[in-house]
Amino acid sequence: MVGCTFCSRLPKVLQNELAYTVYDINPVSPGHALIIPYRHVERIFDVTPLEYKAMYDLMLEMEALLQKELSPDGYNLWANCGKTAGQLVMHAHLHLIPRYKNQGIHIMEHMQGNVD
Ligand SMILES: [Zn+2]
Repeated sequence: MVGCTFCSRLPKVLQNELAYTVYDINPVSPGHALIIPYRHVERIFDVTPLEYKAMYDLMLEMEALLQKELSPDGYNLWANCGKTAGQLVMHAHLHLIPRYKNQGIHIMEHMQGNVD
């Protein structure tokens, strides 16, 4: 879709036939990655089972890569669906957030959404 950040040519970390990963430009922790289907759909609920499988495969690859490079102690995996829930780019995506012992994150900046 024209004008969509995630439909444009971002520098990809990993990719397969149906999805790709990038590092978040505003990371809440080192290694904060996004898992994104190539097809433009606005809501995570509109992703097909095949696209989910492709995203799942990349999630495992990305976890292995992050574990090797940054050795996080845990992860958060989440999706914001809709502006009210804090979705900023209206192209479905999952956040993979590495977590480190004794390092908090400010998730509300990513999740508070529009308060009209
Ligand atoms: Zn898009």
